Amino acid sequence: MFDLRELYQELILEHCKRPRHFGPLAGATCRVEGSNPLCGDQLTLYLELDHEGVRDIGFQGSGCAISTASASMMTESVQGKTRAEAEALFEQFHHLVTGKSPATAEAPALGDLVVFAGVAEFPMRVKCATLAWHALRAALRGEGDIVSTE
Ligand code: ZN
Repeated sequence: MFDLRELYQELILEHCKRPRHFGPLAGATCRVEGSNPLCGDQLTLYLELDHEGVRDIGFQGSGCAISTASASMMTESVQGKTRAEAEALFEQFHHLVTGKSPATAEAPALGDLVVFAGVAEFPMRVKCATLAWHALRAALRGEGDIVSTE
């Protein structure tokens, strides 16, 4: 067992306990199922998309603290964003958790999402942290309704 303590920062735990935008979305225009078989994380992402971007967003599912908190914080970050802004956030977040960008200063748009920087040291957890984001990108690009980290 590797030690996850340093990942479990306060904000992550808080989002895990009280996930934001949790529950199905009545006005959803698309829905993507995501799964990370390595960890057992599952989620359904609901989006209300229009020509402007993400009007509303919600998710349901079960998984580890990292996947739940990441989904919760992702929904907060992309609500009201244009498609281009949401895609850009995906890229920045992905770089952050895969250790390709040295956190914060490089990507001020990430805001609180920088708490996931520590995930880069745990390759298996990268899939937990990016599951909801991959579902988001699939929805934005109309790439189908099922995504898997495998
Ligand atoms: Zn997980």
